[in-house]
Amino acid sequence: MNIPFLSFEPQHAPLRDAMTAAFSRVYDSYWYVLGGEVKQFEQEYAAFNQVAHAVGVANGLDALVLALRVLGVGPGDEVIVPSNTYIATWLAVTQVGATPVPVEPDPATSNLDPTLIAAALTPRTRAIMPVHLYGQACRMTEIMALAAQHNLYVVEDNAQSQGAAFEGGLTGSFGHVNGTSFYPGKNLGALGDAGAVTTNDAGLAHKVQVLRNYGSQQKYYNEVVGYNSRLDELQAALLRVKLPHLSEWTHQRQQVAAWYDQHLAGIADLRLPAVAEGATHVYHLYVVHTPRRAALQEHLTAQGIGSLIHYPVPPHLQQAYQALGFALGSFPIAEELANTCLSLPMWPGMTEAHVAAVADAIRAFH
Ligand SMILES: *Cc1c(COP(=O)(O)O)cnc(C)c1O
Repeated sequence: MNIPFLSFEPQHAPLRDAMTAAFSRVYDSYWYVLGGEVKQFEQEYAAFNQVAHAVGVANGLDALVLALRVLGVGPGDEVIVPSNTYIATWLAVTQVGATPVPVEPDPATSNLDPTLIAAALTPRTRAIMPVHLYGQACRMTEIMALAAQHNLYVVEDNAQSQGAAFEGGLTGSFGHVNGTSFYPGKNLGALGDAGAVTTNDAGLAHKVQVLRNYGSQQKYYNEVVGYNSRLDELQAALLRVKLPHLSEWTHQRQQVAAWYDQHLAGIADLRLPAVAEGATHVYHLYVVHTPRRAALQEHLTAQGIGSLIHYPVPPHLQQAYQALGFALGSFPIAEELANTCLSLPMWPGMTEAHVAAVADAIRAFH
């Protein structure tokens, strides 16, 4: 059985007519940037995320950059980031001229360990950026309490976790301003690049609206040095078709994860994903850890089973961040996770037969 790492087919095939109707609606409207579709999608996504405001932007990285910008985070400021995350989290910090200060994860969940943050704070710390990695909510109660105690902003990187919750609150609704991504492979994906900022603060939402559109409210009058980071009408219209299905797709991901948990139980050397108390997991990725990662991946590839590594090199060891001066061994938990993680096939529409075939292949290897 050939099992791809990701297949859009079960999500997209049944929506073909609705998606092409959305395309035709935008095509015939003759209005392609910042119009009614974006406004509607922003309201619908804000309602889904249980926040007062969502602002559509060009991609997830820009969402994080604009979030930091409207909070006034910039040169001379330090921002707490996870030592293991996709590089976009760090790029947002350095793009606004601030300095990323890495904090190690809880190895059980791969998410930022809130008990390690206090030791990394300095008088220059301005913000904490939790990343709900792989789709699991971070321990937001502790993070928000610490932020309040030290007068820090919180910017959630919600790119992988739309619909996840911690103690009942949705990810993307805790922080002062938060960013998410609708990159095609994310849990809610556009057919191209797209992203959004979410916040409960009307003033900050307004500032994001101005910044994303050249720093301008009135055409050709520019108040601040802005960006071109607008969400297209077309992507917004397509996202509006998909958003009502997101909860169902999330349930399917959680069902696939439950099947994996059952079928992979008790294999020596293979650590399955753990979910923290109070957290929910929307399984953007189903990530296992094994010291024999390279050999296992090769074996799966030979069996026609897709897998990926998220991520092989932690940001502090990337060539791009050489200048920050972090040596090998400076964040050993992130490094160990990077050396042992493997993401198994995960997509809405996967069947128990798919999962059993993946598990059989893994058992045959072990
Ligand atoms: C995908 C992703 C981003 C960036 O989103 P883009 O839309 O690709 O710019 C940021 N952070 C994390 C954790 C991501 O997975």
